[in-house]
Amino acid sequence: MSKFKVKLPWSGPACPCQSGELYSACCRGIDGSPRSKRFDCSPAGDPTGYSREGCYLSFTQNCGGPLTREHIVSQTVMRKLGDRVAVRGFPGADPTVDVIVPVEAQGSRVLCKRHNEALSPLDHRAGKMLERLLPATQYISKRRFGAALASRWVFMDGPRLEAWSAKVLAGTHAAGLNRRAGVKLDYSLNYSKVRAVIERGELEEGAGMYVLANIRPNEHGLQHTLHNNPALGAVVGIHINLAFFSFMFVLDAQRFDFDFISSQPHTYRPSVHRLYGPGGDAKLFFAWKRRPDFKQTSQGRVFWSPTGSSSAAPNFELLSGPPEIDDRTKR
Ligand SMILES: [Zn+2]
Ligand SMILES: [Zn+2]
Repeated sequence: MSKFKVKLPWSGPACPCQSGELYSACCRGIDGSPRSKRFDCSPAGDPTGYSREGCYLSFTQNCGGPLTREHIVSQTVMRKLGDRVAVRGFPGADPTVDVIVPVEAQGSRVLCKRHNEALSPLDHRAGKMLERLLPATQYISKRRFGAALASRWVFMDGPRLEAWSAKVLAGTHAAGLNRRAGVKLDYSLNYSKVRAVIERGELEEGAGMYVLANIRPNEHGLQHTLHNNPALGAVVGIHINLAFFSFMFVLDAQRFDFDFISSQPHTYRPSVHRLYGPGGDAKLFFAWKRRPDFKQTSQGRVFWSPTGSSSAAPNFELLSGPPEIDDRTKR
């Protein structure tokens, strides 16, 4: 029945996006493969013609209400993570180690009420995805301690995850958290590109989410760092580590150092990602607007490290050890 070379990882009538609707009435495309839906997160109704100072979307002249306190990594998402987020480079903190930052410290006033509310569906989606992702990946680490063997998969809406990444990037930048060794860095960010992504999921050629196969366990739950282009003085992307899943979101492809990406095993959308743990595996399944190419699958071995989390960003110290990557393309 299936004409795909990789079997869809779910069965049954319920849609894997957890909307509670039937797959046939929700994310199913005409050919049977899943599709992410178009979205529009711009504020509803006519533009207000008003710019709220301090809102990073004020240049759109469509603000409303006061600045609202926002959790940069989304309150919904933070709750799933047990209210912890690990970052590096915070003012006054040791720049060489991850720092667990309490939820309260993550709040920043960087969006007006109108924009904040319009973008809240992205946080909601990201929270839902994490709800699926975390048990599947935590399961891998438990495997090591003898839990029952099983295979888990996680369904993700690719464009919305990209949009959420861009929102985290913008929030982090607007809040002045672009720091190295505790010193604030004055890097620009192209907010027109940010807007196109977070409001409509539109990216320039080459930009988007790159799934890095050098997955390392991230016991701090979530870790993010901005990717700067020092030569141009610009922020061009963000690196996000979620549990056992690591990806780079590229906003400004024209100015991104692609040597960094191409030097590492990675896949670019659309694809299926299977992460192996000792004895078990978890699979990430991304839905995109176009039909997924099931020939593109990546496989990354997952292992447990007692030395802590790390990130592939250039200014991060990488964990040493044998190569743990097994990145292949199924034909
Ligand atoms: Zn659905
Ligand atoms: Zn606004």
